[in-house]
Amino acid sequence: MKLLVTGGCGFIGSNFIRYMLGKYPHYQIINLDKLTYAGNPSSLKDIKNNPNYFFVKGDICDPIVVNEVMKKVDHVVHFAAESHVDRSIEDGSVFVRTNVLGTNTLLQSALANNIKKFVHISTDEVYGSIKEGSFTETDKLNPSSPYSSSKAGSDLLAMSYYTTYGLPVCITRCTNNFGPYQYPEKLIPFFISRLAEGKKVPVYGTGLNIRDWIYVEDHCSAVDFVLHNGSSGEVYNIDGGNELTNLEITHRLLKMLGKDESSIEYVEDRKGHDFRYSLDGSKLKKMGWKPQYDFDTALEQTARWYVENRWWWEPLKR
Ligand code: NAD
Repeated sequence: MKLLVTGGCGFIGSNFIRYMLGKYPHYQIINLDKLTYAGNPSSLKDIKNNPNYFFVKGDICDPIVVNEVMKKVDHVVHFAAESHVDRSIEDGSVFVRTNVLGTNTLLQSALANNIKKFVHISTDEVYGSIKEGSFTETDKLNPSSPYSSSKAGSDLLAMSYYTTYGLPVCITRCTNNFGPYQYPEKLIPFFISRLAEGKKVPVYGTGLNIRDWIYVEDHCSAVDFVLHNGSSGEVYNIDGGNELTNLEITHRLLKMLGKDESSIEYVEDRKGHDFRYSLDGSKLKKMGWKPQYDFDTALEQTARWYVENRWWWEPLKR
C-alpha cells in the first residue's frame, strides 16, 4: 500500500504513522503536514530515517502540493485539521479554511487520481451533546462549536464525493483520545504538565461535563481496520467505553502525580460547553474491531510518558 497521511506530525497522525510502519513495514507512507503550531516533527524523530517514510511540508489547501503527493499514492488517511475547540471559539476562520476547504482540495485530488480508499477522520463532537443514550452513525449532526461545525462540514463534503462521484470514502468518528505526543493545550497533557511543574489545573465550571476516552493506539488500530475493511460510503463510530466527568479524570491525574484537591482551580465555563458526548460503537465492533487497552493502565502509562519526556513538551509551553 502507498498511503498518504495528512497531519502526520500532529498527535494522532504521528502515533498512526508509527503504528502502521511497525505493523506493515513494507507499506510506503507520505506524510503531508503544514507544521502549524500543533505539528511537531520531533514526534516522529525515531522513524524519520525509515526508508518507507517520506515527509512533505505543505498545506492541504494548496492544490499543487496536494496533487504532487496524491499521484504517488493509492490510499489516503486524512487527519490534518485545526483541532482545538477553545481556539475555534476565539476565531473560527482558520478552522473553516483548513477543515472545510482543505478537505475539499484533498477530495478533488483524490478523485482525479483514482484513490482506492479515502478515510476521513472525524470526531464524536459533530453529533453534539446528548444527555442520555449514545449516538449511532445515522443520527443527525448537531455540532456546537466552530471546530465541530467545520468538522461536520468536512464530513458532509466527504460523503458528497461518494454520493456524487463514487469516490470510495469512509468516515470515522472517534471519542476523545489520550496518549503520548499530544499538544499540551489539550486536557490530559495540559493537566499532567502543569502538575509536573507544580502548578494548579483549571477545571471548567463544575467539572461535571462528560467525555468518553480512548487510548490513541486503539484509535490507530480502528483506523487501520477501517482502511482495510471499511465499505465505501459508510461512517464508523469509534468509542472507548470510558465515560468520565472532567473532574473524575482530574482526580485520577492528581493521584498519579501525588497531588491533592488543592491543585484544582475552578474557572469560568467554556462558552457553549457541550455537556456529554457519547457514541454507540457497536457497528465497528460487530465487524471485528475491539480496543486493546485498559483505561487506567493506559492513563498511568501516559502520565509517566509526559513526566519522563519533558524534552518533548517543555519547548511547546514557552
Ligand atoms: P493535532 O492538532 O494534534 O494535529 C493536527 C495536524 O494537522 C498538525 O500536525 C498540523 O500541523 C496539521 N495541519 C493543520 N493544518 C494543516 C494544513 N492546512 N495543511 C496540512 N497540515 C495541517 O490534531 P489531532 O488531535 O492529532 O487530531 C487529528 C484528527 O483527528 C483531526 O481531524 C481531529 O478532528 C480528529 N479527532 C481528534 C480527536 C482527539 O481527541 N484529539 C478525537 C476525534 C477526532
